[in-house]
Amino acid sequence: MMRIGIDLGGTNIAAGLIDDGMEIVAQDTVRTPPGADAIVNEMEVLAHSLCSQAGLRLSDIECAGIGSPGAIDPREGMVVYSNNLNFRNVPLAVMLSHRLDMTVHIGNDANVAALGEFHAGAGRHISSMIMVTLGTGVGGGIVLGGRIYDGFNGMGGEVGHMAVVKDGEPCSCGRNGCWEAYASATGLIRMTRSAISRNPDSLLKSIAIDKGKVSGRTAFLAARRGDAAGNEVVEKYLSYVACGAANLINLFQPEMLCFGGGISNEGQYLIDRMLPMLEPELYDVGDRRTRVCLAELGNDAGIIGAAMM
Ligand SMILES: [Zn+2]
Repeated sequence: MMRIGIDLGGTNIAAGLIDDGMEIVAQDTVRTPPGADAIVNEMEVLAHSLCSQAGLRLSDIECAGIGSPGAIDPREGMVVYSNNLNFRNVPLAVMLSHRLDMTVHIGNDANVAALGEFHAGAGRHISSMIMVTLGTGVGGGIVLGGRIYDGFNGMGGEVGHMAVVKDGEPCSCGRNGCWEAYASATGLIRMTRSAISRNPDSLLKSIAIDKGKVSGRTAFLAARRGDAAGNEVVEKYLSYVACGAANLINLFQPEMLCFGGGISNEGQYLIDRMLPMLEPELYDVGDRRTRVCLAELGNDAGIIGAAMM
């Protein structure tokens, strides 16, 4: 039977109809309106639009799932807190369930994307996987035995908020030294800006001027073209990525650790440069080692994972 997967973001709501083979057979996107009632209205409209695209009725759909930013209580169907959506204790899944007259599950967007990768992307055919998203922040999802591990209260798996530097850089969560403060695009941009000010004659600086801004790509562009300052930033940035990845591997020994999010668009270059930094930090387990790779589904992971909850 078909399921509906909804990826709720601060900017857009993307929804898809997923078949038993975990293929997206219909898809639609709308802008995210302000307020819970308006969001539920848009989700209902999306559900009808997907059904009409596929020539189905709502009653033909098995269930729906929502991936949402913020702290989620999956058991209560509730967004406990989301800075992005300006939500506190909003029973979003319950509200949509009443509208659509079907079961609606909800989970944290990073957890949900990991579930999508596990079922239909890089994690097909394996038993345990951790997905790390390197974007504006650092998100993640831990999938053990086919299920998301999210703690007793639904809020576990926040890999971005383990510290990699005691008393380090301030993090958006209020703690200092979190992995997110170093391995996110935000952290990378901070390191890039600092290197530009120390190296005014570098290619790194001229790339930033050409593009009109410093982004998460600036240092990688410079490093790929052989610039010493760009290379130094990439080396430092990846050493932090490797540190957190080693923590996760040593703790969980998952069959796979995959990287998604905007910075993972650097592709195999990112993995190839990071692996030599990662290996010495791993607890030695012999020949059966975690495979470190890139996620495969991109934005579809959130939609498929939401449907698979
Ligand atoms: Zn934090």
